Amino acid sequence: MALPRSAPNHLAGPYLERLAQLRKDEARLHAALENPATLFVPIWRSHSFIAHVPGGLTAQFVHGLQQLRALGTADPILLGEFRGQLCFAAELSSDEPPVVDPRAEFVDLRGVAGNLMRDEAGLLAYARAMVLWRERHRFCGRCGAPTLAAEGGHVRRCSNERCGNQQFPRIDPAVIVLVTDGDRALLGRQAAWPVGRYSTIAGFVEPGESLEDAVAREVHEETGIEIASVDYHSSQPWPFPSSLMLGFSARAATTRIRRIDDELEDARWFTRGQIAAGEVSLPTTHSISFRLIEDWYDAASAIPLREEPAARLWTSPAR
Ligand SMILES: [Zn+2]
Repeated sequence: MALPRSAPNHLAGPYLERLAQLRKDEARLHAALENPATLFVPIWRSHSFIAHVPGGLTAQFVHGLQQLRALGTADPILLGEFRGQLCFAAELSSDEPPVVDPRAEFVDLRGVAGNLMRDEAGLLAYARAMVLWRERHRFCGRCGAPTLAAEGGHVRRCSNERCGNQQFPRIDPAVIVLVTDGDRALLGRQAAWPVGRYSTIAGFVEPGESLEDAVAREVHEETGIEIASVDYHSSQPWPFPSSLMLGFSARAATTRIRRIDDELEDARWFTRGQIAAGEVSLPTTHSISFRLIEDWYDAASAIPLREEPAARLWTSPAR
């Protein structure tokens, strides 16, 4: 079934209350940490803690500070209220995978996000992003002194009083765009990808550049195509490690493909018929890239892309 255009992308949506006001309330934060009902999302070497259940996968939590301390952790980071419980991200620092629950394991979220319930996938992505940010900002970027956690872990403050620098969680904006020319869509592939896999054009936004400028530049650099118009579609947090994917659809002004940089190994126009016939492997269904292709495809097809019997879709491996 095609998702309505207004439905949130995977890893997005109102999956928790962020409770930003709680970050500055030391007393309530302390009480929340001590509450045995509080949930901790464990992250070990950027991997998420996941168990197999009939029909899919599910996020596993650590319950209460006592169990968490026994596992060895850095400062928990407040995430918010999830399913009625306060919830923190907690990095486990052991060399070996911690034994929390033998029925679950630490795995890379990127490969399994599509097999998790939407709210769990979003929560684990958020937890992963916060832990990775903290790990990369342990020292002040201005004076080099160690930083200390503040505001529930959402600020890293320089420990050098003469410096006083503060670092905040950062995201790296990236544009991702489906360029179309009537019944054809422009897709490209990187050399490292499995044979036959193509995706939409994407790249990071640079300083001093608007989103629409970045779309036009990336499309031109990677395919030589000029675009006539750009429309915003939707966005997706992509914490691998810290991107925010900003999705666009664009209409092509030119059609001759000519690769200018070496980002892509190949770029081609694919018609709806070629996509339906499985001549190309499309990105995983939980990615915004698939969503961009799907919305364009379904707008002029009697059969939704997800139901095309011969279309080749990259689904997440069910581990
Ligand atoms: Zn400093």
